[in-house]
Amino acid sequence: MRAAVLHAFGDLRVEPWADPVPAADEAVLAVLGVQPSITEAMLVSGAPIALHEHLTRRLAAGPVAFAGHEFCAVVLEPPADPSVPSPPVGTRVIAAETVECTTCGGCRTGAGCARPEYVGFTRPGAFAELLAVPARNLVVVPPEVSTAAAVATQPLVGALHAHAALAVAPGESVLVLGSGVMGLHAVQLARRGNAGLVAATSRSAAKRGLATRLGADVALTPDQADDPDVVSELTGGQGFDVVVETAGGAPEAGLAGASTLRTAARAARRSGRIALVSVLPDDARLPLATLREKALTLVHPESGRRHHRGGDQFEHALRLLARGDVLVDELVTHTLAGVDELPRAVAMTLDKAAHGAVNPPQVMMAGSQRIEEVG
Ligand SMILES: [Zn+2]
Repeated sequence: MRAAVLHAFGDLRVEPWADPVPAADEAVLAVLGVQPSITEAMLVSGAPIALHEHLTRRLAAGPVAFAGHEFCAVVLEPPADPSVPSPPVGTRVIAAETVECTTCGGCRTGAGCARPEYVGFTRPGAFAELLAVPARNLVVVPPEVSTAAAVATQPLVGALHAHAALAVAPGESVLVLGSGVMGLHAVQLARRGNAGLVAATSRSAAKRGLATRLGADVALTPDQADDPDVVSELTGGQGFDVVVETAGGAPEAGLAGASTLRTAARAARRSGRIALVSVLPDDARLPLATLREKALTLVHPESGRRHHRGGDQFEHALRLLARGDVLVDELVTHTLAGVDELPRAVAMTLDKAAHGAVNPPQVMMAGSQRIEEVG
C-alpha cells in the first residue's frame, strides 16, 4: 500500500509502506476519506505540543507512518479471532482513536486507561490506503451520514466532551472564542443544549456569519470580546457564565497563540468556567492573576475517548449528524483526491485562512467511490 511517512519534522512523503499486520482482535480497513487534525498538522511541522517528544524519539529510530485518526473506512477483513464482535465486511465505519488496553486498573474501573495507544499518533492511522484497528474501537456510520461528515465526526466528539465538562445549566450565557470547526460545533451544541445567550468570535466576517447561521445570537470580533464594556452590555454587567476557548495555538498555523486565554478570563463572570479546547505548549502564558482573582475554573476536556460520562460519545455524535441536529457538511470547504495529496492537505491545514478553509481539507482515496458501491 501507499502511506504518508514522516522522515523528519516538516518532511512528510507518500511512499510504499508495508500493509498492516492485524492482531487477532483487529479488523483491516480500507480508507475512504481522511482529514488532518490541527494537532497532527502541528506535530508534523514540529510544534512542541503533546506527543512531540514521543514523535521525536520515534523519528530518531527511522521514518514513521504518521497521522490519520479523523477518517471513514470500510471493513475489508474482520478480526482473525471469530469470537471478537465486528461490523461485517463492507460496512462503513469510523474509529475512536483512543485504544484502551482493557486490562489495567483504569480500564477496569472506567477511570481511563493508564497506557492508551492513539490511532494515527502512537500507532499507524488512516494517512494510508489501509489500516488495522481493534474491532472494539469501530463505530458503524448510519446511512444518513455522508462519508465527508463521517470523516469529520471526531472533532464533534471533542466538542461533546467539552460541552459535557462545562455542565451548562439552563439559561447560562456561553461565549465561544474562535469560529473554526471546534468553535462552530461548540456553538451548535450550546444552542441545542441548555445555553441562554450564545456568542461567538472570529476575525473573519464570513465565519461570524456562519456562527450566526449555526445558532449564535451574537458574533463578535476578537477585539469586541476583549472589551469589558461590550461583554458587560451583553451579559447585564456579569460576564459570561461559560467560555469555550478554541482559538489558541501556534500563530504560524493561523491560530491566536495564548492571548485568547486572557480574553476568556476577562470575559468570564466571577466563578465562571472556561474550557480549554485549544492545544497549547507547556510554556504558554496563563492569566493566573485573573483566574485566581475571579475564582475561575479552567477545565480540560477529554478528546478521543469513546465511553466517558454516560453513553457512547461516537455513536451519539453520529446520531446528531444523522438527524441534522449538528451540521458539518457545509463546513467541509476543500476536498482533494488520492493518497498522494495527504502532504498538501497538511500544508493547507496549517494555513487554512489563506485557503478560506473551515474544516481541514479532506482527502478522498482513489477508488473510494467504487469501494462504497461494492460495500
Ligand atoms: Zn488500560
